[in-house]
Amino acid sequence: FTFDQTPFHANIQRSFQQAGFERPSAIQAQAWPIAIQQTDMICIAKTGSGKTCGFLLPAFHQQLQLSDGKPPNPRRGGPPVKPVLLVLAPTRELSVQIMEECQKFGRPIGMRSVCCYGGAAKYHQIQALERGVEVVIATPGRLNDLLEMRKADLSHIKYLVLDEADRMLDMGFEPQIRSIIEKIPTERQTMLFSATWPREIQRLAHDFLKDPIQINV
Ligand code: AMP
Repeated sequence: FTFDQTPFHANIQRSFQQAGFERPSAIQAQAWPIAIQQTDMICIAKTGSGKTCGFLLPAFHQQLQLSDGKPPNPRRGGPPVKPVLLVLAPTRELSVQIMEECQKFGRPIGMRSVCCYGGAAKYHQIQALERGVEVVIATPGRLNDLLEMRKADLSHIKYLVLDEADRMLDMGFEPQIRSIIEKIPTERQTMLFSATWPREIQRLAHDFLKDPIQINV
């Protein structure tokens, strides 16, 4: 299975080659064909498996299909773009790593991103949200704060990723996660990643995913 055989838009295939990746990882080979169909997905996998590209690229691909391959390029002075992809992650470190992948693969195709985590000033995060971004990567506590301040707008989210969901629940973020998801349109694709599959994660998946396909890597 090589990158040329992936179902992705040529612009995305080009960015793999530039990243020097030789072939899809096991999780990518399993997740991409499912995720690209807009199907909800549960993926039980460890970190370091290439899961970030596993969820980012199908969302990017679907956006490119919609814009006919052209980067979304709002005219200056027009209303700012509202985010279409939201990734929730447990920690600042993980959310920064996700943003780095997002910049590597998303920037060449016009996907702008902001990373919103706690323990840092809100100012730059708010500024980026106000300028307009396609992707928000956030820890649940900080995003919830920004929503309460009415600085984040999730009304256009089409792809929702819960990354390391078990760690987010271990850290006590379940109430924030539930409150955030309630502000996202139900007409969306939801992808849940977790290293383990305890009852609390099963309940979360049951409440927020529709007919998910589950893969174990
Ligand atoms: P992740 O599990 O998403 O945190 O990814 C771990 C590391 O593997 C990151 O540095 C990725 O850039 C890299 N990576 C992702 N997909 C591939 C691939 N298909 N081939 C080689 N490296 C990859």
